[in-house]
Amino acid sequence: MSSSGELFVVAAPSGAGKTSLVNALVDSDEQLALSVSYTTRPARPGEVDGRHYHFTAPEAFARMVEAGEFLEWANVFGNCYGTHEGTTRAVLDSGRDVILEIDWQGARQVRERFPGCHGIFILPPSLAALRERLGRRGQDSAEVIAGRMEKARAEISHCGEFDFVVVNDDFDAALAELGTIIEACRHGHPPGGPRHEALLAELLENG
Ligand code: GDP
Ligand code: ADP
Ligand code: 5GP
Repeated sequence: MSSSGELFVVAAPSGAGKTSLVNALVDSDEQLALSVSYTTRPARPGEVDGRHYHFTAPEAFARMVEAGEFLEWANVFGNCYGTHEGTTRAVLDSGRDVILEIDWQGARQVRERFPGCHGIFILPPSLAALRERLGRRGQDSAEVIAGRMEKARAEISHCGEFDFVVVNDDFDAALAELGTIIEACRHGHPPGGPRHEALLAELLENG
């Protein structure tokens, strides 16, 4: 039976905790596959090519754009980030759900291409907490952190374009909320409808 997986789009200002939350979700849910983005940003210490991102030279990224390989792509903080269309569709076609961790510009493009996708926005409990988390992560320079704080308001202003909003104050509580949202979307109708096609045919058959 060909039942397509659900597509989840998660966005948040940098430092709100989306990577930590999404990684924890994917680790505990075999049905959920994380999309690995392509980026021209240099790898942070400890980031592994092919696992955290496909780190790509700007020229190679431009060629992929030209060849139409991206489902969406955007320039975020001066670097390009993109989601590979073929890979995403192949995973969805296999029946698994895919989660994209992308910015609001990319989310808009995905919504146009996949109207049935589910948008989830993660908010920090306060700007002070956001600043503290960006600093504590210890992977970006003071200048980069200042730039990300400046962009936070712009990202947050797009929160209303998403179907669900989760505040990441207590990590475990936010993780549980995300898990509940994902589970609910899997049972939604019509997006989740095709998944029950065979069962419905059997239940409705004249007996
Ligand atoms: P972090 O979110 O602070 O860990 O920073 P990253 O460098 O990992 O991501 C920078 C920005 O790029 C964030 O807003 C991400 O949501 C966004 N981003 C990451 N991957 C993609 C992608 O494939 N497409 C788009 N459009 N944005 C992406
Ligand atoms: P993003 O992917 O949104 O940029 P990260 O997942 O890298 O954010 O999280 C930024 C930092 O904040 C990390 O050091 C992470 O451990 C920390 N963090 C995430 N969620 C929480 C939380 N609920 N409370 C405190 N710190 C958190
Ligand atoms: P970072 O450089 O800190 O890993 O990510 C910065 C921002 O880029 C984050 O807000 C992240 O969501 C976004 N981002 C990462 N990958 C993609 C992607 O493939 N597409 C888009 N549009 N944004 C992305």
